[in-house]
Amino acid sequence: MPELPEVETVKRGLDKALKGDAIRSAEVLRQASIAYPDVDDFVRLVKGHKFGHVLRRGKYLLIELDKGAGLACHLRMSGRLIVRAGARSGSDSESESGSSREPKFLRVIFYLESGRELHFEDMRVFGRLWYKPKGASFEKVIPTLAELGVEPLEDMDGKHLQKLFANKSQPIKTALLDQRLIAGIGNIYADESLFLAGVHPLTPARDVKLAVLERLSDNVKTVLERSIASGGSTLRDYSDSDGVNGKYQHEAYVYGRQGQPCRTCGELIERLRIAGRSSHFCPHCQPKPRGVKVPLSKKSKKNN
Ligand SMILES: [Zn+2]
Repeated sequence: MPELPEVETVKRGLDKALKGDAIRSAEVLRQASIAYPDVDDFVRLVKGHKFGHVLRRGKYLLIELDKGAGLACHLRMSGRLIVRAGARSGSDSESESGSSREPKFLRVIFYLESGRELHFEDMRVFGRLWYKPKGASFEKVIPTLAELGVEPLEDMDGKHLQKLFANKSQPIKTALLDQRLIAGIGNIYADESLFLAGVHPLTPARDVKLAVLERLSDNVKTVLERSIASGGSTLRDYSDSDGVNGKYQHEAYVYGRQGQPCRTCGELIERLRIAGRSSHFCPHCQPKPRGVKVPLSKKSKKNN
């Protein structure tokens, strides 16, 4: 599943690739891919628009069009938005390749003035596109946008986290993944940031001190930026449900490394399920705060 760094990578690529181009026409091959308005209106309304900037909010791509209109996209599980050479048979404009070129994954085609095509491809068909009419905000068309928390790469710092977590007795890991508090950190980045900040994932969010939250906030940014810098290449292979590419997993401190020695202290990395998500941590570098009960894991059940 594309996480924030992958979506940010797509955003930066599209912003550059679409500049100066316009939509000549659109063809919808799968109706369900269009969330708003209905397919006929979508095709009619996007026609003729010039592209403006491409923005990101959480994991939503927001493409500004001229005359105050816009196009939004959520890639969900397996969506891709890719600029390709025209006529479907030419070489790729992006260096993307692979099985998703099969027409059965192609859901929407935008034919561009330049002769190129903007393809929305989606194997799992959960991805969606919205057209935003002029005068409406993206939040009006996609109400979920208004519920998203702070952007971790922009507005977030320790003080901000302290305010967000003030009344939260839930584990810090759960709070970090709550989209209403922070928009789109993702499981792997939460685990890696907690390790770097030396915070046990089960620590109640409200108990984490400001100095530690400052560190945690910085680490979230570092981990996300590092993944963006490496191109967020998980869009190419969905080998892992959390969207972790082999390269990052190789570099990870704790994520996916249960049973392997901590890169800092040598202690074995452990894994816990917290609010339905797997959490990886080093019991030595991320000591459990007093009074926090660790739920039974597979390992401890075996020992009992
Ligand atoms: Zn350690």
